[in-house]
Amino acid sequence: MSIKVRFAPSPTGRLHVGNVRTALVNWLFARNARLSGQGGQFVLRIDDTDLERSTPEFEQGIEDDLRWLGLEWDERYNQSKRFDLYEAAAERLRASGRLYACYETAEELDRRRKVQLSRGLPPIYDRAALSLTDAQRAALEADGRRPHWRFRLEGRRVAWEDLARGHCEVDTASMSDPVLIREDGLFLYTLPSVVDDIDMGITHVIRGEDHVTNTGAQIEIFEALGAAVPGFAHMPLLVGADGEALSKRLGSLSIAQLREEGMEPIAIVSHLGRIGTSDPLEVAPSIEALGESFAFSKMGRSPARYDTADLERLNAQALHALSYQDARARLQALGCDLGETFWNTVRPNLTRFADVAALARIVTGPVTPVIEDAGFAGAALAVLPETIDEGAWARWTEAVKAATGAKGKGLFMPLRLAITGMAHGPDMAALAPLIGRDRIARRLKGEVA
Ligand code: GLU
Repeated sequence: MSIKVRFAPSPTGRLHVGNVRTALVNWLFARNARLSGQGGQFVLRIDDTDLERSTPEFEQGIEDDLRWLGLEWDERYNQSKRFDLYEAAAERLRASGRLYACYETAEELDRRRKVQLSRGLPPIYDRAALSLTDAQRAALEADGRRPHWRFRLEGRRVAWEDLARGHCEVDTASMSDPVLIREDGLFLYTLPSVVDDIDMGITHVIRGEDHVTNTGAQIEIFEALGAAVPGFAHMPLLVGADGEALSKRLGSLSIAQLREEGMEPIAIVSHLGRIGTSDPLEVAPSIEALGESFAFSKMGRSPARYDTADLERLNAQALHALSYQDARARLQALGCDLGETFWNTVRPNLTRFADVAALARIVTGPVTPVIEDAGFAGAALAVLPETIDEGAWARWTEAVKAATGAKGKGLFMPLRLAITGMAHGPDMAALAPLIGRDRIARRLKGEVA
């Protein structure tokens, strides 16, 4: 089998961690298939049938976010350019009696639902429109009513083997016939999605478990259109650290926002690719490696916990593992490419890439020294080696210890504060040669240097 999947976001907002996780899992599944010689195409399908709510800016935002995360696509479509196909499919469903015209207004439907509920009945559409005569329909249309179109469900148990949830069944007898086309002619997502999945040869539909009920109806539509039914995987939804559903907070968890906050793409994809799975929550060496180890069998049935603290930890891990080669262009962009030794010395101290600018200032200055005991600083200066090479720090601190009697924190902290102006920071032995003797000496004298 040649595996092909799709991510179908609506350009009605920015991507957030919830829909990016869906995109990512599709991408990882495709990449895993590719690595094992089973095809592995990833389609980006912009679900912009709702012309009013979709915007080109959001569409651009989706592309930018996916590219930034490393989720490149093999094919790309806009549903808004494919209405002819949806119309043709609707026509076939009308011809076979599966798509029927309804004329009820929202108020009428609402009233009926209330009556049903008050009688203890499930609020399912009663299919009254199916028994309209041609004359009644003509009268309604003459009255200015425009039809909306419902798909007539078979009312049976629709079953599938879900890659993430195992055996699934949906009883379509307990559902209202879904509206596929609104009275203003708008195609709701249900039919275009199936038509495109068929037309594009999608082999697996991977999405959140909030779509499980849709799947029951959509499987009936695949069959009504005479197509093979693809495989399905419905992933548990994301919850926050507190176990509460994230759905309401997703707006503030946009990829754009995370990027702004200094999160690395590899940290985000490692986090989203591994939460809710049996893999350890560690940063992956690359998105390729994540794809290589991806398997639905590792995904649990319980919700995946999205915890900002975990993301922060993975972000630091990603920076600590970032090679100079990969960091270089970004260091240059920040004006702080001070070479490989500098990078290797400071990267263990980073939680955000941008923090490197403050650490570069320790080397290039200006630093305002923090000196509490000028006598101690003077004594240290007196024994400062002439050349600050690799072993200089160890020799110097031994000499300062001998000269002043200070040891441990009492020895190292005043030196660090004087030389860097900070109480915490990278390894001084490695930093000292980069800072150089001149700056160290001036800082020990209390000069801003
Ligand atoms: N645009 C739909 C959504 O974001 C796509 C669902 C699907 O993947 O079928 O919910």
